[in-house]
Amino acid sequence: MMDCTGQAEDGGRAALPAGAGAGGAGPITRTEQDGDVTKFCLAAADGHEIESVVVPMGGEIEGKDKTWRTLCVSSQIGCARGCTFCRTGRMGLVRDLTVDEIVGQVLAARQQFGEDVRNVVFMGMGEPLDNFENVVAAVRCWHDDREHQIPRRRVTISTVGLCDGIRRLGALGWRRLNLAVSLNAPNDEIRSRIMPINRREPMGALREAIASYPVRGGGHVLIEYVLMAGLNDQPDHARELVEYLRGLRTCVNLIPFNPFEGPGYRPPSEEAVTQFQSILMESGQLAFRRNTKGQQAMAACGQLGRPRSVG
Ligand code: SF4
Repeated sequence: MMDCTGQAEDGGRAALPAGAGAGGAGPITRTEQDGDVTKFCLAAADGHEIESVVVPMGGEIEGKDKTWRTLCVSSQIGCARGCTFCRTGRMGLVRDLTVDEIVGQVLAARQQFGEDVRNVVFMGMGEPLDNFENVVAAVRCWHDDREHQIPRRRVTISTVGLCDGIRRLGALGWRRLNLAVSLNAPNDEIRSRIMPINRREPMGALREAIASYPVRGGGHVLIEYVLMAGLNDQPDHARELVEYLRGLRTCVNLIPFNPFEGPGYRPPSEEAVTQFQSILMESGQLAFRRNTKGQQAMAACGQLGRPRSVG
């Protein structure tokens, strides 16, 4: 683990060590391209691969059209959480990534793509709050880097919905660190079927944890919702979701399921996605649809993890 762990506690600011990432995460071993989306893999010292995805983004900032790149990083090799719609979940947990290995993903992406790798989202392999200490230390490193800073407001931690972990994250007092929660169902019955975590921490408890998270003024907790045909994409599901989220400061990110071999789920129809989004928005719930960039590179949500690793 690199020396930067905990450096921000006393307000100190430090540059990333020149060799950060090199010890824990080696060179890029493989890249896959799908249009302008790139998945790359770093070699870990123990022979595993650490998978990351670079996605070009664009939009209007302060009245000007800008482009930048978002890096989707992994926090673990594999994942213990076993969500049934997720390719990584089928691997089981191999191990946590070290701070070096997490930080090294940004260094590798910046070496390859330059400084416009601006935003980081923990939406790659693994549940970041299961590797809490190392993930928090990596966020500190990026934030405290004098030369190539990635401030916390440009980092998003995406969780399966671990209530204690969300509270621990909130207790750090980092008001501008973004939180995303992978919800994917409008009720406990459906969520428990596709996300084992829900049998231990049902949606009522999760709702309280989300409500406790300190979002900055005008900000939201992002709610990720993977739409699967017939399972959770019906109009009644949308209305139920509206009721669940009522009173919370959230924005729903609708993600059409990306097929891969095995799980038996189907993507929703175009009409179902449009109708689902309309019901949310007409009820006053912010909602947008994620572009499924990267689908062919197997880099879209829930698709990281090599087939040979599937147990
Ligand atoms: S969706 Fe996230 S938490 Fe669930 S198995 Fe996949 S990587 Fe793990």
